[in-house]
Amino acid sequence: MKCPRCSNGLLKGVIGNAAMFPCPERHGLLIPRKTVASIIERGWAAVPRQTAESRVFRPRAAPRASIGCPQCHLAMETYPFCGIRAIEIDRCLRCDRLWLDANELEDAVVAVAKAKYRLLDYDALKDKLRLPPLEGEHFFFRILRSYSYLCETDPALAEAAMGLYLVVRYFAPSLFA
Ligand SMILES: [Zn+2]
Ligand SMILES: [Zn+2]
Repeated sequence: MKCPRCSNGLLKGVIGNAAMFPCPERHGLLIPRKTVASIIERGWAAVPRQTAESRVFRPRAAPRASIGCPQCHLAMETYPFCGIRAIEIDRCLRCDRLWLDANELEDAVVAVAKAKYRLLDYDALKDKLRLPPLEGEHFFFRILRSYSYLCETDPALAEAAMGLYLVVRYFAPSLFA
């Protein structure tokens, strides 16, 4: 299998129980999709809050050209990791593997950490406002809690938006009917 960036042969490594294939020139690696999810789920809490908060994620101006899967050569699909538009990764639907460019695995872990820390804040905010639990999740609420919004918004704005949403929805529920 060849690196889609430099055409050198990929190396073979093991992470947990899964095989992964890094480029010898460190352009990136081919890795099973599920392995990435479990690495991030176990790893995000190791990223200090300050590190996560200081990273700025901005969506690309234009989508990147797609690459061929190193294993089966099918065109890989480009999609935003966890809905985060700033992190566009390549996935082969046939092999269920991802190609992650050198910085993308780190970006993904830091982005998830940033979103998870902010979600903890919002749960604390709900307690602080002392509002009874609201039934269901309005679509606006889902946007506020999406990884994309959490990662790309200024923290003060994000907290204000969530607080405003909770209060308005409580006192004027018909606005969100
Ligand atoms: Zn390479
Ligand atoms: Zn493939």
